Amino acid sequence: MRILLDKFCKSFGTTSVIEDMQLEVGSGEMLALLGPSGCGKSTTLFAICGIHRPTSGRILFGDRDVTNLPSQARNVGVVFQSYALYPHMTVEENIGFPLKVKRLATANIKQQVAEIAKLVQIDNLLGRRPGQLSGGQQQRVALARALIRRPDVLLLDEPLANLDAKLRLEMRSEIRRLQRETGITAILVTHDQVEAMSMCDRIAIMNKGEIVQIASPSDMYNDPRTAFVAGFLGNPP
Ligand code: ADP
Ligand code: MG
Repeated sequence: MRILLDKFCKSFGTTSVIEDMQLEVGSGEMLALLGPSGCGKSTTLFAICGIHRPTSGRILFGDRDVTNLPSQARNVGVVFQSYALYPHMTVEENIGFPLKVKRLATANIKQQVAEIAKLVQIDNLLGRRPGQLSGGQQQRVALARALIRRPDVLLLDEPLANLDAKLRLEMRSEIRRLQRETGITAILVTHDQVEAMSMCDRIAIMNKGEIVQIASPSDMYNDPRTAFVAGFLGNPP
């Protein structure tokens, strides 16, 4: 599903955070929103998933204008830095929760959970509780829970920030594999340029609420258009 931000603006009170952003993410594409802390990446993602309303401008999924729709009506899957799993529920219950809310039959939920759990390779952990899982396993559960409703769009906000270096590497290719296998349109918010470079089809570099350059990883690397982009790519965090 194509995502379009058309003249997207977001202010908090009198403070303008995003001004007149134009962004198109192609169907099946994985795009990184890359930039320093505070540049407006999460604000943009929150507007796409429906947590924040734009101050002005429009958000389209395909041809559907979702600007004024609540999160639940947008069919988005979201994964944040902190996994926010329900500690008292098993892995199976955590993953199935969005379907339980929709009042699907138990047998149906069980079957769908089994399918998704296999896809993210945690089908052997369904009886455990989050406290009995590693960080990487918990993040896989969060991914499964985001994917269970077969969303049109997958939104990832610094999903690997809490993982150690080895797991981060493993989950980079894992998330990319899932994105390719499902063909889902995805946006990855990150301040880590290596992560953006290695996982995404295109990168939008943001600074102070604006997209300063948008290009494929190799074009971005070979032809940074501004000193900001060159400096940001050249200085790993
Ligand atoms: P990033 O995710 O790139 O680190 P954010 O989108 O979280 O940046 O924040 C961008 C700017 O908007 C920051 O200056 C932040 O303080 C401000 N901001 C974010 N959310 C709010 C809010 N709810 N109220 C006021 N200011 C906010
Ligand atoms: Mg953020």
